[in-house]
Amino acid sequence: MLSRVENRYNDAEAVQACKELNVDGVLAMRTYTARLLGKNPNLVLHGGGNTSAKSKTVDRLGREVDVLYVKGSGWDLATIDPPGHPAVRLQPILELRGLDDLADEDMVSELRRNLLDPFAPTPSVETLLHAFLPARFIDHTHADAVLALADQPDAEEICRKVYGEALVWVPYVMPGFGLAKRTADAFDEAVRHGKTPRVIVLEKHGIFTFGESAKESYARMIEAVTRAERAIADRRHTVAVMPGTRLGSMESRVVPRLRGALARAGGFAPERGPVVVVRNEDFILEFMSRRDARHLVSTGCVTPDHVIRTGPEALFLEGAEYNDLERLGVRLDSEIASHSRKYDEYFDEMCQLKGVSKKRLPGWPRVVLLPNLGMCAVGATVEEANVVADVYEHTMFVMADAADVGKFKPVSREDLFDVEYWSLEQAKVKRTTASRLGGAIALVTGAANGIGLATAEAFIAHGAHVVLSDRDGAGAEQAATRLGPRASFVRCDVTIESEARAAVAHASRTFGGLDIVVSNAGTASEGKLDTREGADALRSSLETNLLSHNHTARAAAEVFAAQRHGGCLLFNASKSAFAPGPGFGPYAVAKSALISLMRQYAIDSGPSGVRSNAVNADRIRTGLFGDGFAESRARARGLSVEEYFKTNLLHREVSAKDVADAFVYLAEARSTTGCVITVDGGNAQAFPR
Ligand code: ZN
Repeated sequence: MLSRVENRYNDAEAVQACKELNVDGVLAMRTYTARLLGKNPNLVLHGGGNTSAKSKTVDRLGREVDVLYVKGSGWDLATIDPPGHPAVRLQPILELRGLDDLADEDMVSELRRNLLDPFAPTPSVETLLHAFLPARFIDHTHADAVLALADQPDAEEICRKVYGEALVWVPYVMPGFGLAKRTADAFDEAVRHGKTPRVIVLEKHGIFTFGESAKESYARMIEAVTRAERAIADRRHTVAVMPGTRLGSMESRVVPRLRGALARAGGFAPERGPVVVVRNEDFILEFMSRRDARHLVSTGCVTPDHVIRTGPEALFLEGAEYNDLERLGVRLDSEIASHSRKYDEYFDEMCQLKGVSKKRLPGWPRVVLLPNLGMCAVGATVEEANVVADVYEHTMFVMADAADVGKFKPVSREDLFDVEYWSLEQAKVKRTTASRLGGAIALVTGAANGIGLATAEAFIAHGAHVVLSDRDGAGAEQAATRLGPRASFVRCDVTIESEARAAVAHASRTFGGLDIVVSNAGTASEGKLDTREGADALRSSLETNLLSHNHTARAAAEVFAAQRHGGCLLFNASKSAFAPGPGFGPYAVAKSALISLMRQYAIDSGPSGVRSNAVNADRIRTGLFGDGFAESRARARGLSVEEYFKTNLLHREVSAKDVADAFVYLAEARSTTGCVITVDGGNAQAFPR
C-alpha cells in the first residue's frame, strides 16, 4: 500500500521558517511543524487537530511566566501563524486538574481568563489535555489510518499490537475536561508502571504524539500513522465491489433535481437553495459499489467532530436509476423526506434519553451518495460544500479501511449526539448571515465587461454564486478569479446553441443548479434595412440579440423544471425596443422582439413559478460603444458624445452599476413577471407600453 503520509520535516526549511516568523523560538518551531501536519489532509482536515508547546515568556511587569501556546479556535493548521497559538498561563490551568468536574462554559471562561492577550482567539477545546500532559511539544490529529484502527470493536487490542509498550490507550470520552483528566491519568499511570509512552490513542477519536522538540513530536506522529497504515495493509481482506458504470455525463441533469428536492425540503424560498458540489473520483465510485456501502454509511462518523460538517449519516440512494429522471425526482423527494423524519426521531429520542432540550438542527442530508454518479456534498456556500466533500472523502477512506481490516464500529449515536449539540462544536461552524441573493445561483452572459460584469459583481456582493460566461474566455476567467470562490467562468458564444447549453450545464456542475439567468450578451449593429448591408446586419442581429437569448433561456428552463423551485429569467433589452433611432434598425428590431420573447416566457412559464423580466437601459458607456460607435450614434442625433450620454430627463449619465442594481431588484421581486424596468435617466419616447 502506498503511504499517504511522509516526514516532510526539513532542517534548513525549519531554520528559514523560524527566521521569517521572528517570534520566540519555541513558538516559531511550533508554527512550522503545525503547518506540516495541517498540509496533509490524511492527518487533519479543515480546522481539525490541534497542537501546543510549553514555554516561558515575560508578562507586562517583566515577570517570567510559564505559558502554554495552544491552537486557538478559528485557525487552520495548514495556514497557521504565530497568533494562531495564543499563550495561556500554564500554572493556573494546571490547578484545574484538582477539580472533579468542570462545565464547558466554565472551562472556556477559565481558559479565556488566563490568556496573556485578552483579545486572542479562544484556546482549543482540547487545551486542558495539552496542559495536563508533561511533554513540551504535543501534536493531535484525526489521521485516517489511526481512525481505521481506533474505530474497531477490538481497537485496544489492535493498537496494543501495533504500538506495544509505547501506547497509552484512552477509552472513548467526549472532548473537554473529562477527556483531559482521563488522558492525563492514563499517561501518569503508564509512567508509574515504568513505561515510556510515545503515542496516545483516543478510542474512536484520534491520536496524540509528543516530544521534547517540535521535530521529535512530528516525527513520532508520522511514524505512528505509518505504522497504522502498515497494520491496515497486513490485515486487509477486501470486500467485494459490484461493477458499475461511470455516469459522469448525467451529472448536470441529475444534480439540479437533487438540489431542488433539498431546497424544497429545507424550506428555502423559491429561486434559492443550497450549493451542491459533486465529486466522482474512482475511489468514490468504488466505495459506493461496495456490497457493504449502505451499512457503512449508516453506521456513523469516523471521528466525533466530523458530525458538525457531514451530519450523523449520509443519504445513500442505493440502486438509483438515472434513465427515468421523473421517477428519480420522485424518489429523491421521498428519500429526503424520510431521511429528515428519521433525523427528527433520532433527535427526539436522544433529548428524551438524556433529559435535555436542544434546538433541533435541520434534518436534511449534508451528503447524498448517488451510485455510479458521484458524492454530492451540500452547503450554504461552495466553500462550505467543499469542506463537507473533503471531510466525507476521508470518511470513505476510513470506513473502507476499517471494514477491510475488521469491523467499522465508530462512536455511538448517543455519544455523537453530545458532540453534535455541544455548544463548543457548533461555535466552529460559521453561520452565513442572510443576504439578498444568498442561496441563489446565477448565470450572467457577456460577463467579461460592461453591464454583464457590473451585474456579476453586484450579484456576488449580494451573496449569490455566479457563473460568468463570455466569448472572451480569458476576460471572464480574469473577472471570476478576482470575484473569488463564489464565481466561476465558462467560455461561451451564446449564438451557438450547444455552447449556451454547456454554459448552463457548467452552473449545474459547479454549484448544483441554477436560479437566475441574466441574458445580457449582445452586439450593436447599425444599417438601413432597405440596403443589402442593412438586411445582412438584421439577420446577424436577430441571431445575436434575439435567438441567442432563447438558447440560454431554453437551457435554463430545463434546469428550472428539474429543480421545481421557480426560476428567474432576466433579459438585457434596450430603449431601442420602444424608441428606435435612425439607421439602427437591425438592433432595434431584434431588441423589440426580445421584449416579446421575455413576455412570452412570462406567460408560458408563469404557471411553473418561473418569472421573466427585462431591463431597458440606454446609453451606458460600455464595450458596445467601442470603435467610434458612440461618435456615430451621437452624430445620428446631432449631439456631442458628452451630450449624447446625458440627454435624458434627469440629465444624468447612467452607469453599468445602475443597470446591475435593476437586475438585483428584479432577482428579488417575487411577484413581478413580464415587466420591463427602465434604466435610462428618463426618456418619454421610450416609456414602455
Ligand atoms: Zn480531536
